[in-house]
Amino acid sequence: MPVPASATARLLAGGIEGPRALRPMLDTVLDALATGAADRGGPLPPGGPRAVARRVRAAAEPVLPTVGTGAHQALHTLVRALAAGSADPADPHCTAHLHCPPLAVAAAADLAASALNPSLDSWDQAPAAGELETLTCRALARLVHPHRPDPDALATTGGTEANQLALLLAREAARTAGATAPLRIVCGANAHHSVHRAAWLLNLPAPLTIPTPSGVLDPARLHDTLAELPGPPHPVLVVATAGTTDTGAIDPLPRIADLCDRHAATLHIDAAYGGPLLFSDTLRTRLHGLDRARTTALDLHKLGWQPAAAGLLAVPDSAVLAPLAHRADYLNAHDDTAAGLPDLLGRSLRTTRRPDILKIAVTLRALGRRGLGDLVERACAAAQHLADLIDSRPGLDLYARPAISTVLFRPAGADPAAVAAVRRRLLREGRAVLGRATTCEGLWLKATVLNPHTQPSDLRALVALVEGSTP
Ligand SMILES: *Cc1c(COP(=O)(O)O)cnc(C)c1O
Repeated sequence: MPVPASATARLLAGGIEGPRALRPMLDTVLDALATGAADRGGPLPPGGPRAVARRVRAAAEPVLPTVGTGAHQALHTLVRALAAGSADPADPHCTAHLHCPPLAVAAAADLAASALNPSLDSWDQAPAAGELETLTCRALARLVHPHRPDPDALATTGGTEANQLALLLAREAARTAGATAPLRIVCGANAHHSVHRAAWLLNLPAPLTIPTPSGVLDPARLHDTLAELPGPPHPVLVVATAGTTDTGAIDPLPRIADLCDRHAATLHIDAAYGGPLLFSDTLRTRLHGLDRARTTALDLHKLGWQPAAAGLLAVPDSAVLAPLAHRADYLNAHDDTAAGLPDLLGRSLRTTRRPDILKIAVTLRALGRRGLGDLVERACAAAQHLADLIDSRPGLDLYARPAISTVLFRPAGADPAAVAAVRRRLLREGRAVLGRATTCEGLWLKATVLNPHTQPSDLRALVALVEGSTP
């Protein structure tokens, strides 16, 4: 039974009545998702940006009518238009970015987060959500730091925020230790662009960026760079990457950690992509050395199959997070804290904060470590299979064997303009979403395989699409 238009403004999502109000609306949403996906009929809408914009305008205008349409009509029209116009990572040919197909169980849990709307800036807005976040963050931190007594993690909006927090914590730790020179960041050219933005945001000198022609941070070059810096008391933060965004390469973490020890530098590891290999018994060995970082970025909205946002910043000891402590009388007054109300404000730079942890906690519980590890292994195996296929085709060049689940390739001998043209043709036709990555060898098509249910037939079809789009 559709909700009468006149009732829409009266219905709330919470309380005992909330679920009853939501149920018919969810029917509308689910039907619109299915209809929209069928309208699209592929991994992304055909026709390019202008055609998509025209269809969205037709559905969405007037954006702010004087008199509303009611829930059913608005949900049906806009959800259908969004689904029809989406790049849908559940389609195995939508494989450009670290943009994962969310698990149904995680999306279902996320609905509860929206309905209850706990806000994680004070205990009196999130009594249970705060505790669930503490438990879940600690469990995930123990995956990174299994041998430490008190590891911890913060929930973030993703690797970008985690990298910012890592640089901020390093800057503040250096200040507390009495450093007078600004923190110097040293990273590879393969590091994520957010590291450079974070340095800019935090008013730190631009990172010293070491060329990475092999795709990973070379310990010999890192040693030379660190040896040339003035050394203590001049503070240095080395940023290594476990799973680069362009190629999925993993920097040699143990050797980098050794160099950090030797030169008294702090180590941050950006494992936004590769971190979830920790769930797999067979693949976690690739992250050897991860536990030597002072801060580690980890995203579960990549290999982790969460709807965004689901980022984490893990630390070996909760004391590392102390610089984030902050006081606002209405949220964590001294006397409230002394009386036993948990103080949540130091767990983020945000104030109002959504319980992204709920979908993560539900997923961890529902699948277990083995279940998640199995999905990670499937995605990596599909990438290996894609690399095999490409290797077997004389008309295609493979960049390298995938380190995680990213495969770079291109039509043999294609120049950058031709590679870019293949990608845009497939986008315009709505047939495949492939990314692009530039290495020393030029421009490549990038397939980031995150759909664990990708079949060999999907990969053969993807290869055939590229071959068919090559002039
Ligand atoms: C994706 C990614 C980021 C950025 O993470 P967001 O979740 O998009 O903010 C940072 N570093 C690496 C290596 C990444 O792959």
